[in-house]
Amino acid sequence: MKPTPAFAAFSAETPLRSHEIARRDPMETDVEIDILFCGVCHSDLHTVRSEWAGTKFPCVPGHEIVGRITGVGSAVTQFRPGMLAGVGCMVDSCGTCPDCTAGLEQFCSVGTTFTYNSPDQHTGGVTYGGYAGTIVVDQRFVLRIPDSLEPAGAAPLLCAGITTYSPLRHWNVGPGKRCGVVGLGGLGHMAVKIAHAMGAHVTLFTTSASKISDGHRLGADDVVVTRDEAALTEWTRTAAPLDMILDTVAASHNLDTYLAVLARDGTMVVVGAPPTPHPAITTGKLINKRRSLAGSLIGGIAETQEMLDFCAKHDITADIELIRIQQINEAYERMLRSDVKYRFVIDIGSLRA
Ligand code: NAP
Ligand code: ZN
Repeated sequence: MKPTPAFAAFSAETPLRSHEIARRDPMETDVEIDILFCGVCHSDLHTVRSEWAGTKFPCVPGHEIVGRITGVGSAVTQFRPGMLAGVGCMVDSCGTCPDCTAGLEQFCSVGTTFTYNSPDQHTGGVTYGGYAGTIVVDQRFVLRIPDSLEPAGAAPLLCAGITTYSPLRHWNVGPGKRCGVVGLGGLGHMAVKIAHAMGAHVTLFTTSASKISDGHRLGADDVVVTRDEAALTEWTRTAAPLDMILDTVAASHNLDTYLAVLARDGTMVVVGAPPTPHPAITTGKLINKRRSLAGSLIGGIAETQEMLDFCAKHDITADIELIRIQQINEAYERMLRSDVKYRFVIDIGSLRA
């Protein structure tokens, strides 16, 4: 085991602080990475504050990891020292169940090992994420970062990018389709960029009037401020219905508002995972026009690589605010106030300073 500096939460109520963890000695299929950048996902905040059940402390979050490979095991074929590499939300799965063989490791029937707060298949402990100096990951869960992507802006693609790309692809968003995005945070701003690049007409729904011009700059054709009830009612009355809506909001809210603007056979896909339930939906909103309400969880490894290559082709990275690890607690508070433009990314060099 090799020690590495990290930042960890020791309880749900206390700020993250400096800590030291140990990474396993690389095995023959392992890739050893010096972490350069790690994005800050709202899931990190939900987890360290134990808003979802089951957080094991100390908890080292972080699943939007970009780093430089420093070593590879003897059986590693696709990676070599010196290459840039990415690690997203998963670090292991059984590899043989129907979900894994379908390339959907996030739904592994035996149990996906997530990058942090999961039982570690190798050490018997708990997995620790990217708010750390290094990570050791099986080659099956390592991504190639295309050369043209700026590494800090590419880090958020490993969660926010794939979590939005995967449902947009699955529900066939593209030219001639009208797509809605709810919430302009980390996930939402990637959804706007990607849906726009896929050729769809994009409508952004935001609670923040201050984000209207950014919404347009990022690729939205329409921006609707949902706190302005008159504007929302007028938009609903006059606009063409939407084929698909991707809801990225991190807090409980009324879904009926959005179901009502879906076209016939349209689907609303929820990816936001608030700790408290949404209010019950009105069944009539689904029955009418044969609408669907669905969910989606990140995306498989092959699709994550496809998304990275798509982003390279379309010159897409996240709009980021680079922070030092010592600013992480303040960054969480700003994220709670929807004050992120549009993803915090930690410069992991600050851990070593
Ligand atoms: P984020 O950066 O904090 O963005 C959330 C956005 O939701 C805010 O910027 C805000 O946008 C909107 N919002 C509206 N009301 C809000 C409220 N009361 N509190 C907080 N936000 C509110 O979060 P994120 O990292 O994009 O993550 C969004 C959600 O997706 C989280 O619940 C996260 O755990 C979940 N997630 C799910 C998956 C998955 O696989 N399904 C993967 C990653 C993350 P406006 O200002 O535009 O209204
Ligand atoms: Zn995430």
